[in-house]
Amino acid sequence: MNAPAGAALACRNCGQALRVLALQGHYGRALEIDLCAPCHLLWFDAIEGAHLAGPSLLRLVGEMAQAQSLPHTPLKPQLGCLRCAGPLHTVHNPSRYGASLQLECTQRHGAWQSFGQFLHQKGLVRPMNSADRHRALQRDGALHCVNCGGGIGQGDTVCSWCGSVPAVVDVARLALALDPEGATRQHAVHRQRGEAGALSCAACGAAQPAEGGWACTSCGATLTVPGLAEAHRQVSALGPALRAHAERPAPHVVQERLARQQPALQRQRDRAREMQKEADRASGRVPPKERDGWFDIEMIGMAVDLLRWLGRLVFRLWH
Ligand SMILES: [Zn+2]
Ligand SMILES: [Zn+2]
Ligand SMILES: [Zn+2]
Ligand SMILES: [Zn+2]
Repeated sequence: MNAPAGAALACRNCGQALRVLALQGHYGRALEIDLCAPCHLLWFDAIEGAHLAGPSLLRLVGEMAQAQSLPHTPLKPQLGCLRCAGPLHTVHNPSRYGASLQLECTQRHGAWQSFGQFLHQKGLVRPMNSADRHRALQRDGALHCVNCGGGIGQGDTVCSWCGSVPAVVDVARLALALDPEGATRQHAVHRQRGEAGALSCAACGAAQPAEGGWACTSCGATLTVPGLAEAHRQVSALGPALRAHAERPAPHVVQERLARQQPALQRQRDRAREMQKEADRASGRVPPKERDGWFDIEMIGMAVDLLRWLGRLVFRLWH
C-alpha cells in the first residue's frame, strides 16, 4: 500500500514519527524531506536528491545538527522503502566530490540517505585527517561523528555508533552551498576554508602550526569545524541575508542570473530551429533555405485568403 505524500509517516527503521520538513528547492519549488532524528536518516521522494540552497539548506543543516543530540539508533540491515516498504538497493551517486551512497526504492519511490551521506554528496565534509584529530582533541577534548554526533575514539577509523567515517565540516563550502549566488559574498564566513591537510590559511595565506586550533593564528578565520552543530552556528549568521535574498534577490544577483540564462536560452532557440528544419526536411515541405521568414510568408498568405473571402462576401451581399 502506498502512503500519501505530506502525512507524517513512521520511520521504517525505528518506528518513530518522521519530521516532515517543508522546504524549497531550486526556483522556489516546494519540496518535502522526512527526517528521522534518532536514526540520523533523511528520506527524499525525488531519488535524484534535493537541490537545496539558501534558507532551506540552512534549516535542514540546523535540524540535522539538533538531531545529533540524540543517541543513534543502529540501522537495520534490511531497511524498507518509506512509501511501499519494498526492497531497496544501494546506489552510488557520482558527485563532484566523489561517489556517495543512497538506499533507493527499487520501484523508484525515493531514497534514504544518512546525514553523513547527504553532507558528503554535497561536498560539505571531508575525511578527518590526523591533524584534524589532533586539533579537535586539543580544542574540545573529544571527537564527534559528523553523522550521528556520537563520540569517536582517537584511533577509530569509523564511528562505533553509526559506522560513519570520521569527517570535518568544510565551513567555506557550506557557506557557498547556502549561497551559490553570492548574495552574502562580503560576509566573513565565506573566507573560511579547510583543504585536506592544508596548513596555511586560505583567507590570509599565513602558515599554520600543525598543533594549532581551528582558527587561523594570524587573521582568526575558521579553517574547518569538527561538528555539524558548530558549523551550523557559524553559518547561521547568514540566515537573515539568505531569507531576504530568497524573497527579493539583490540587483547584481538578478543580473548575473539573467546573464547565466542567456546562453541556455540561445541554445534552446537554436535547437528548436534545428528540430523544425529536420521535421520540414523529413516531411518534404519547404526546403530549409526558404524557411527564414516563413512566418511572414504564411501571414501574408492568410491575409490574402481573408481578403478574398471578404471580397466574395461583399460581392454576394451586393448582388
Ligand atoms: Zn528512525
Ligand atoms: Zn517504494
Ligand atoms: Zn556516528
Ligand atoms: Zn588567516
